[in-house]
Formats: sequence, C-alpha cells, structure tokens
Amino acid sequence: MLNNRQLFLQHNAQTTFFPLLLEMERAEGVYMWDVNGKRYLDLISGIAVSNVGHGNHKVIAAITKQAQSYMHLMVYGEFVQGPQVLFAQKLCALLPQNLQNIYFVSSGAEAIDGALKLAKRYTGRFKTISCKNAYHGSSQGVLSIMGSETYKNAYRPLIPGNTIVEFGNFDDLNLIDETVACVVIETVQGEAGIRTASAAYFLALKAACKKHGVLLVLDEIQCGMGRTGKMFAFEHYGIVPDILCLSKSLGGGMPIGAFISSSQIMQSLAHSPMLGHITTFGGHPVCCAAGLAALEFVLDNNLIDEVKEKELLFRSKLIHHKIQEIRGVGLLLAIQFDSFENNKKIIDCCIKNGLICDWFLFCDNAMRLAPPLIISDNEIDEACKIILKSIDEVIT
Ligand code: PLP
Repeated sequence: MLNNRQLFLQHNAQTTFFPLLLEMERAEGVYMWDVNGKRYLDLISGIAVSNVGHGNHKVIAAITKQAQSYMHLMVYGEFVQGPQVLFAQKLCALLPQNLQNIYFVSSGAEAIDGALKLAKRYTGRFKTISCKNAYHGSSQGVLSIMGSETYKNAYRPLIPGNTIVEFGNFDDLNLIDETVACVVIETVQGEAGIRTASAAYFLALKAACKKHGVLLVLDEIQCGMGRTGKMFAFEHYGIVPDILCLSKSLGGGMPIGAFISSSQIMQSLAHSPMLGHITTFGGHPVCCAAGLAALEFVLDNNLIDEVKEKELLFRSKLIHHKIQEIRGVGLLLAIQFDSFENNKKIIDCCIKNGLICDWFLFCDNAMRLAPPLIISDNEIDEACKIILKSIDEVIT
C-alpha cells in the first residue's frame, strides 16, 4: 500500500520536482509537529498568513460558531451576510476616508485582478504600470503585471499594455501619464527579497498618479495587517492608495482577499455592464468570521506595538560573518547570504534542525523571516540559535 507521501506525489499536482515533502499532523502557536512527532518552529507563517499563530483559539471559536450558523448561502454581493458586514465595518474603522468600500474575494491574485479591472473600468484607460521583481499572484491576469520575464514568458500572450518600472526609481515616475489606468505596487516588495523604498519615493509616486488621474493600487497582501509594525504599510510613508489589496493574513488562516476603494470608484463595477466582478465564494462567511476574530486578536493584544521590538531582537541576535545584510521592516525581513547554494544549504539545515524557512521567488540568495506576530522573545531566541547553528554546520 502506498503511504501518504507516495500518494501525494502520484495524485497531487506538483509545482516543482523537489517539494519539501514534510507532513504535518498539527500546529499550535509558532510551532508545527510532523507525523513522526518532530517539532518545527514556523519562521514564515506559510507565507505571511498565520499572524495570530496556528490554532488560535479565538479564530477557531469564530469559525465553529459561524459554521454552525451558516456557511455558503449565495454568491457575493446579494445577501446581507452578518460576518461580511461586521468584518468590513471593523476594517473600515481602521482605514482612511477614501477606503470605505470593500469587495471581498477569495485570494490575493483575485484581489489584484479585481483592482486592475476596477482601475480600467473607472478611468476608461487600459495601460498599467508595475515594478520589476513584483509578485502579485499567478493568475493569467495578474501574471501580466508580474515583474519577472522568466515566469511570464512561458505563458504569453498575456494582457497587453503593462510597463515595468524599477521599484524606488524616481526617473521612472515620468512614465506615469494620462494614458495610464493604474500603478500597481507592493508597499514593501516581498518576493523581490523584502525591498523598501523611501517615503520621498512614495510621495512622488502618489503625486504623479494624482496629477495624471492615475489610480494608485497598493498591494499589501504580504506586508499588510500589522506585519511591518503598522496596521497598513502605507502608514509608514504618509500616503493613501486609491485601491488597497489585502489577503494572506486577512483571514486568520482562512482563504480570503479584498480590494478596497471609495464607493464612488467601486460603483463602476455595478453598471454598464452590471456585475462587473463576480465571485461565488468571495467573502465566505466562515472566512470573514475568522478574519474578524484574527483582527480583534491583533488589536486586543496590541501585537502591532511589539513588532518593532521583535524586529530589533532578531537583528541583534542574528550576527554572523556569513550574513551580509538583514533587510526589511518589522517582522518582514530577509537574511542575505552570498549565494543561492549557501542559502539553500542553510535553509535545508534549518529545516533538519526544526525551523521552517525558505527563500524568495525573485531572490534565491536570501532567507525569508516572517514569523507569526505572536512569536515570543524566547521563541525568537530559539529561532536565531537554530539559524546561527545551521550556518556553522553547513558553511565552512
Ligand atoms: N501579492 C503579493 C505581494 C503576494 O506575496 C502574493 C502571494 O504570495 C500575492 C499577491 C498573491 O496571493 P495569492 O497567492 O493568494 O493569489
């Protein structure tokens, strides 16, 4: 008889020829345990999702309660579903005045796809701008604005009209003109290997968009919901987007996404033709209940206030001559090594030593550090010890 690992390889689609093949039995807090009882510390939150930790009791209680009341009732946007309303209300209370209308979807890619459609529909323009090494998801529409030719080329033709600019480059802002519908940009670039840009850059970007009637779409799917030390990463830069995209940790471990704008902009999806964006499962009531519980948990426990201190703790403990740089903001960091080969060896060794980590899609010589926000000082200490020990074990 085949075991689960063999069945997985046989019947579950693979996206690489070298999957990790770990089989977990349970997960709680920052830890997960495999079927052999081995414990792993989760340093990436699978990926940037489990902000409130695995098996969060508040989230589980909310899921259970909602599942017992009702699950799927109707496609999105027709019935008044309590969990959607309460979650939207709570999020809107944290968002600026021009971001008070939420379209819930099921994933990050769908949120960006919805934002692209909304920007095109509202402006009547079709051109878009995105950044080199940007990752916004993998659907056909979103692939069209991905900042990597390698990943795009095999799937052409894609949606035309996108121009790639360099993240943080002021000169490239000259490409923003009145033919462009929107600029889509991660407030903190994730898969590029955690790259930040200056507040001056974001202010100039916002000004250029405003001048030409271009919508600024911020992708906070990876960096939002407190991970950078602010609820929304744009709060670091003194700007507000026209459309904000969220997902990943938004659902407290359940699948949900959202694109958020003003009612005025959002209304363009409701006419000429109506039903401009349709989703069956978007804003699933159980996911909204989980998301609301996760958000309340973050707020009630002041998790965001502790992010900076935790970042500094990681930075102070991760000192090794093989670490070239630690980049990023809050609990969204990249540990830079000299090569992919060494990075891969260190990551493999960390996993062997009970620490889950990985590299970035467009930066394979850096290690991702994105633990649950609930990680304690002791757990940070444990994680850093495993990383340092693993470097010494494999790099001579
Ligand atoms: N945007 C960013 C910044 C992401 O990191 C991701 C996923 O990694 C996405 C969008 C796509 O999200 P999803 O995988 O839910 O489609």
